[in-house]
Amino acid sequence: MIANNGRLKIAIQKSGRLTEDSLSLLRACGLEFEFQKQSLYSPCRNFDLDVLALRDDDIPEYVQDAVADLGIVGENIVREKGARVETISVLGFGECRLSISVPQRSSIRSVKQLNRKRIATSYPTTLKQYLRSQGLKAEVIELSGAVELAPTLDVADAICDIVSTGTTARVNGLRPLTTVLTSEAVLVANRATLRNPKKKQLIDRLLIRISGSLQAHGKRYMMMNAPATAVPRLKKIIPSLKSPTVVPLADEGMVALHSVIPEDVFWDVMEKLKKAGASDIVVVPIEAIIR
Ligand code: AMP
Repeated sequence: MIANNGRLKIAIQKSGRLTEDSLSLLRACGLEFEFQKQSLYSPCRNFDLDVLALRDDDIPEYVQDAVADLGIVGENIVREKGARVETISVLGFGECRLSISVPQRSSIRSVKQLNRKRIATSYPTTLKQYLRSQGLKAEVIELSGAVELAPTLDVADAICDIVSTGTTARVNGLRPLTTVLTSEAVLVANRATLRNPKKKQLIDRLLIRISGSLQAHGKRYMMMNAPATAVPRLKKIIPSLKSPTVVPLADEGMVALHSVIPEDVFWDVMEKLKKAGASDIVVVPIEAIIR
């Protein structure tokens, strides 16, 4: 039994698509712990928090029932389980969508044509809600895996399944018809925990770190030297979050410019900056941005 020791308990997926990104996020927040998926429970050395490794399908209910105070899980699972939990942050990974697809050769071309058809899914609750919202009646066939095979086996006329790149659907000869839900990983909290002052304080500290780390995601810190006369030209090129910092150098007439830039434009921007007079351009990663 897990001790009710006043420490925060955060549930993450034991082993699967969200595990690595969940661990990276917690580590980017400065939390130190050993994680072994075989062990349910990993205490954090430098924060009042324990990491629980669980099946992601179970996380919403465990958080709802206060087995864990917090959980990192896909929105799709939270929605499907109808768990009474608070979503306190979206986390920017695990992006996917729940989509309805039909076989390439199917005569079904519109959502309306799904009426009275058979749809296979592992997301019966979400699918039934969607069908109701569209005023459609269809037979929902619940499968726990390999849903994409259902049309080939003539078990269903369409499937409703999670897609990220669409490759699995294409390989199985399926054509997307509509998106039922878009999803990404979220941080959910137990509602009573949010009313517990000691735990709420720990959660707020964690949220500042999470937001700092998410803010830094996809950004780099860039520094360069340039003649002061080049600054107006360089400012036009630098795609900074704010106006760049300009500081004088010991060399008369020379300045250093510092700026946060999106990492995907870095190489393009650097070439332009060099042409416009910048030199000694240094680009470094950012751990966190706290606003
Ligand atoms: P899994 O490890 O396959 O059980 O997936 C865990 C979670 O990752 C899912 O519930 C989704 O929230 C998310 N996810 C992101 N991309 C995909 C994908 N292509 N297939 C399944 N799940 C995905």
